[in-house]
Amino acid sequence: MESISLNLVMLGPPGAGKGTQADRLAKAKGIPKVSTGDMLREAVKAETELGLRAKAIMESGQLVSDDVIIGVVRERLAKPDAQRGFILDGFPRTVAQAQALDTLMVGRPPLVVIDIAVPEDELVQRLTSRLVCEDCGTNAEGVPLSASLTTRCLKCGGRLKQRSDDNETVVLERLKVYRRDTQPLVDYYRSRPTFRTVNGAQAMERVFADLAEAVDSAASGGALGGVR
Ligand SMILES: [Zn+2]
Repeated sequence: MESISLNLVMLGPPGAGKGTQADRLAKAKGIPKVSTGDMLREAVKAETELGLRAKAIMESGQLVSDDVIIGVVRERLAKPDAQRGFILDGFPRTVAQAQALDTLMVGRPPLVVIDIAVPEDELVQRLTSRLVCEDCGTNAEGVPLSASLTTRCLKCGGRLKQRSDDNETVVLERLKVYRRDTQPLVDYYRSRPTFRTVNGAQAMERVFADLAEAVDSAASGGALGGVR
């Protein structure tokens, strides 16, 4: 019986590669990656009471409230596969959600919070040069714009094109919204001994190595320092 448990929150701007890193770490640790979008879809599909509420709200074109999101997260984290830990991606998004998450952590090892930091000019460069498969929509990870004509989709062999929603104006607006919403969250967590910042402006392999190291140091005692 494994005694190690990892309760991880991953923060990071769009373009930081957070989702990909979270997927990989979840596999390595044998714990589920839990994203808010997936959670809502699961709850809606399972037709839980909260899922039905969320469905009605989304169908009316409104944003799902903190209450509903927190309820969905609570249901998800109570499932057997999350008892040894989880990686949250896309939640919490607000300080209110973070406070609610803390109340769900009573009786569990403390949350580890990792912020994947990437300078804004690099994010803009990454986000405005992302390629996506014309046929299946898969992101072409690590393929530069200049290779768009000579490289094909790894999944289906389709042609690659620039994402239409990735022009610079849209990207800058998304980053502005991210900063506005997330800075208070980073401030909320920053003073904890289990908070770490990982340099996301490196090759994917290097980021993953740093992430794994930061997680292990934060989970095993917190105050050992290291990456920060
Ligand atoms: Zn494809």
